[in-house]
Amino acid sequence: MQAMNLPSLDEANLAGGRIQRSSSLVEDVYEAIFAQLMSLKIAPASRITVDSLVKEFNVSHTPIREALGRLEGEGLVLKTHLIGYRAAPQITKRRFDELYELRLLLEPHGAAKAAVLMDEVKLAQLQTSAGVMARREGKDERLRYSNFARQDAIFHDKVMEFANNELVRETLAHQHTHFHIFRLMFHSRVTEEALDEHEAILAAFAAADPAAAEQAMRRHIEHSRDRLLLAFD
Ligand SMILES: [Zn+2]
Repeated sequence: MQAMNLPSLDEANLAGGRIQRSSSLVEDVYEAIFAQLMSLKIAPASRITVDSLVKEFNVSHTPIREALGRLEGEGLVLKTHLIGYRAAPQITKRRFDELYELRLLLEPHGAAKAAVLMDEVKLAQLQTSAGVMARREGKDERLRYSNFARQDAIFHDKVMEFANNELVRETLAHQHTHFHIFRLMFHSRVTEEALDEHEAILAAFAAADPAAAEQAMRRHIEHSRDRLLLAFD
């Protein structure tokens, strides 16, 4: 596993029970646990006890359980009857290979189709979602990393939406690919290089060039695979 840049607890503004009570309490708790899962502060396959989260965040059981339920739906948390919650285990090398084979079969083709069907409104949406990823504000590295993972999922999902095949889009969405792959390695390289690759995809969309879009998407997914393969060393 690659060396990780875990910030100290003091830097993490959601750690240490400083979650403010608000109407979006469940949302805040969800985001905090999500960030810990994505950055491996909560290790894959480890037990998650509701009581310890209650103490850590200084909130009641209800928002914790709601947040965990949502994370269960996203494949990041598993619930076992009478035993409780644990973090989903790390993706296996075999599953990783299968996932990238699936992506390489579907996403470059989807990008080519999306490029043909591209218009200014769609392009603006893609640029916006890519732009959110590029922002580096906020001190909490963990939160930034987890936001990047989610935003990358949205970006790729949008491309598939614009490729106009709901079955392909759903097939990819059900894998929760980005949540699993980003959990392999908590490292800035994972995000920095992806930004340039997204730029290349956007340029191809802006030019409405299907061949260039297909190639840029293929290159991005291949590079993503190669970056994360290091996690299995
Ligand atoms: Zn991406």
